[in-house]
Amino acid sequence: MDIQTAKQRAAEGVAAARDELIEVSLEIHANPELAMKEERASALIAGKLEARGFAVERAAFGLPTAFHARWGEGPVTIAYLCEYDALPEIGHACGHNLIATAGLGGAYGLKAAVSPDDVTLLVLGTPAEEDQGGKAIMLERGAFDGVDAALMAHPAPFDIAAPPMYGVEQANVVYKGQAVHASVAPEAGVNALDALVTAYQAIAQLRQHIRRDSRIHGIITYGGSAANVVPDRAEARFLVRALQTAYLADLKGRVQRCFEAGALGSGAQVTVQWDKYTYAPMNNSMPIADAYGENARTLGRKFLEQAVESTGSTDMGNVSWAVPSIHPTFSIGAFAINHTPGFTEVAATDAAHKSMIEVAQALAMTGVDLLHSPDLLRRAKDRFGAPA
Ligand SMILES: [Zn+2]
Ligand SMILES: [Zn+2]
Repeated sequence: MDIQTAKQRAAEGVAAARDELIEVSLEIHANPELAMKEERASALIAGKLEARGFAVERAAFGLPTAFHARWGEGPVTIAYLCEYDALPEIGHACGHNLIATAGLGGAYGLKAAVSPDDVTLLVLGTPAEEDQGGKAIMLERGAFDGVDAALMAHPAPFDIAAPPMYGVEQANVVYKGQAVHASVAPEAGVNALDALVTAYQAIAQLRQHIRRDSRIHGIITYGGSAANVVPDRAEARFLVRALQTAYLADLKGRVQRCFEAGALGSGAQVTVQWDKYTYAPMNNSMPIADAYGENARTLGRKFLEQAVESTGSTDMGNVSWAVPSIHPTFSIGAFAINHTPGFTEVAATDAAHKSMIEVAQALAMTGVDLLHSPDLLRRAKDRFGAPA
């Protein structure tokens, strides 16, 4: 079969599954589940894959809501990734219902276009993208061993084939002081909230003097129990992001010193607990992203022309340093910004599903490119690995 015929079959394979994919998307959207608690979404997708002849391992890699699905025994291993976690209070405000179904549809499309002797086709259920870094844990536990290319796509305000994504370090900070009556004997107290506020202000000042391709933001999660008691405990969570790994490490050190400054000034004790799994900046595979972009354009997708600076972070970043990977973004038909209730609403519309189907088709066609065009995978591997 020539490559164009195979791509057409891939696109038709997705179109034939349209109703099923939309049904799955709507069911996940209507039942939002938080990171590592996505029992329903994970079981739903795993069941669909099993029904289509994939060998499915549930609770894969020691994560109850991860799965590993495989079809074919070919020499080239292509993995489609499904995210399906939601956010507290605002549900699927990041549209992971559309990620899950774009990945699922991409795999259906590729399966319809190739022989099981040519491909080892994986669908990986990757929980907990919004929190905890499911892919980082799966990577460490071998989920991507032997994978030649990893493909997924993320809903966003615009279509971008190779979006920059920040690396991120996340910290929980706890200050401990000495409680005392705030009026009777304040001089005997050590104010943990003051320590945290000093640190907060120091970070706010630091922010004036950091590079444009970085971000620092956080919230105070506990600041005392009563206004007439000097707080003996204060807590916060902060995120530090940057596009380059070395600069991220530099910023992390500077933020750490801001936390310590709060303790030094107030006499409180500070504990800074940086999360074990750092999200790495995205290392987009440009040869594969270009192939994806071409395929998506033939389906009518329109890409943002100018470069973007403002972005988020993803645990796909970690995967992208281990195997050639893409993480294109796609618009869902009406302008909305991720992590807002407006995005949640748009993520369940017909327009969003039209986008999801087209993106699934483009992902499937890109899988065909990886199997059929002799040098795409070689170019992806040749250009792979240099740290940012
Ligand atoms: Zn998100
Ligand atoms: Zn997301």
